Amino acid sequence: MCGIVGYSGPKEPLPILIAGLSRLEYRGYDSAGIAVSDGSEITIEKKEGKLDVLKEHLADRKINGNVGIGHTRWATHGVPNDVNAHPHSDNSQDFAIIHNGIIENYAEMKESLLSENYSFKSDTDTEVVAVELSKQWNGNLLETVINVAKDLEGTYALVVTTTKQENTIVAGRMMSPLVLGVGEGEVFLASDSAAILEHTNKMIFLENGDFVEIHDGSYRLFDTELKEVEREIQIIDWEVSEAEKSGHEHFMYKEILEQAEVIERTINGRLEEDSVEIPISKEQAQKYDKIWIVACGTAYHAGLFGKDLFEKVLGVPVSVELASEFRYREPIVGKNDLGIVISQSGETMDTIAATELLKENGSHVLALVNVVGSSLARMADSVFYLHVGPEIGVASTKAYLGMLVGQLLLAKHWDSKKKLDVSFEDIKGLPVLIEETLKCEQEINEIAESIYKQNDVYFIGRGLDYALAAEGALKLKEISYLHAEALAAGELKHGTLALIEEGTPIIVTASQYHLLDKTTSNVQEVKARGADVIAIGNSSSEKLENISDRYVTLPDSNEILSTIISIIPLQFIAYHVANKRGESIDQPRNLAKSVTVE
Ligand code: GLU
Repeated sequence: MCGIVGYSGPKEPLPILIAGLSRLEYRGYDSAGIAVSDGSEITIEKKEGKLDVLKEHLADRKINGNVGIGHTRWATHGVPNDVNAHPHSDNSQDFAIIHNGIIENYAEMKESLLSENYSFKSDTDTEVVAVELSKQWNGNLLETVINVAKDLEGTYALVVTTTKQENTIVAGRMMSPLVLGVGEGEVFLASDSAAILEHTNKMIFLENGDFVEIHDGSYRLFDTELKEVEREIQIIDWEVSEAEKSGHEHFMYKEILEQAEVIERTINGRLEEDSVEIPISKEQAQKYDKIWIVACGTAYHAGLFGKDLFEKVLGVPVSVELASEFRYREPIVGKNDLGIVISQSGETMDTIAATELLKENGSHVLALVNVVGSSLARMADSVFYLHVGPEIGVASTKAYLGMLVGQLLLAKHWDSKKKLDVSFEDIKGLPVLIEETLKCEQEINEIAESIYKQNDVYFIGRGLDYALAAEGALKLKEISYLHAEALAAGELKHGTLALIEEGTPIIVTASQYHLLDKTTSNVQEVKARGADVIAIGNSSSEKLENISDRYVTLPDSNEILSTIISIIPLQFIAYHVANKRGESIDQPRNLAKSVTVE
């Protein structure tokens, strides 16, 4: 689930591996390691802890070699320590292997290898692959890796090098992402293109069951039957600077601030009536019987926003589903249904599995993803790219906004009966509106001062504001570790009101003008129990403003756009609360950026 980097070419591999691993640090990991091979010997160095520990251990050491592989581990089997860190090797140290994912049948394999007197150093699932490689070695690395892979159950991106076949790396994938970077006379490997973007923007995204043989800076791709396959080279138009902090303390903060600019890219070319950038036409959209929006976490919250819009413009039921649940029940998906799957990385394992289920049932699948060429983009029948640039902060901000705007654009294009009260001209003004909204930061910083020592925070809202409340609460939990809960404002009195007491912080977003009176009544209910109410609305919500303890006034605008911009103060609340608590904002504990395991 964590980071992979590989290199073959004329340069020294070690600095390239370390630089690549640094670019993957944002994903969260617990140990790091490298292996460099000069053809006759493989040097493996690995350390528990941050990459800095490994760097310090290596000091200014030069390790000569022609190929190198590097890994940051997010432990699934065996505690984080030096021994369990990758790369792993076989008993005679002829192979070095790194792996992302989980080998589900490793226990049976290990037992059988132990009975044949092979020994193990680590507690990982990965080590069985290294030992199997030496057991099954047939003189050809590609063939041996493919043979071993056929015995594996589970998920993997595997990268292997050996002293038995000079200057060669073999890599393959099954459900875990792996990207090949194509340079001039050199080849890179990574689990995420951000790791190698400084060297090349030409990428090949390996498909499940693809294996690549890399030798002296050139590559060949094969399937599991050893048949050579062709894969298209994709040009990634992200700038390296986009994956850097550019002077800001945290990626998350930088990503909040750049939202006006990136949303400009999301809407670019998509505001004309018959834009080719809209993957499903108005006519086609009217033909579906039902829509399934399937996603996880933040993307699921974005889906809650989309539901209302699509129901309104298409007049068909829309069900928003948690991908991890959807795949384990028997949803009644019809051939005439549309599945909309949402994921920033396009590699979210649960969403991928849900997409398979939708496709098996014959529905058309539209993927809303940010990463070009990602697994979901390739699996789906249609793709809508968010174009918000690389998102490094684990807590999603700009990608979430991109998901809201993406769904709004789709709904607007499918709105043949003119049900949505927003024009293309209004949407065009969104970047300026976002810029204006970002000015609330100072005010929010002061509000954060009053929240950061609390234990519980409640977010409430009605209609589309409830979708925002859900996302606002998740942001706060993810990075500040405060307990936060989101509620549809009308639900409070059905139970949770019992928890509201003197001083309990309640954050209410009130962008849904037509529900304002109802929301205001719910705020009265919590005020009567002594809650400390922080409300976010516009200049015409006087009643709400008067009863709130603090009121953040956002720029006036169209109702739907008001909802979209209202996430910005909630992002700032999470950021500033976490910052005041001194938490590790870009790498929150226990979390990883893209969740490629179940
Ligand atoms: N399952 C392997 C381990 O625990 C790989 C984990 C990862 O993807 O980083 O070592």
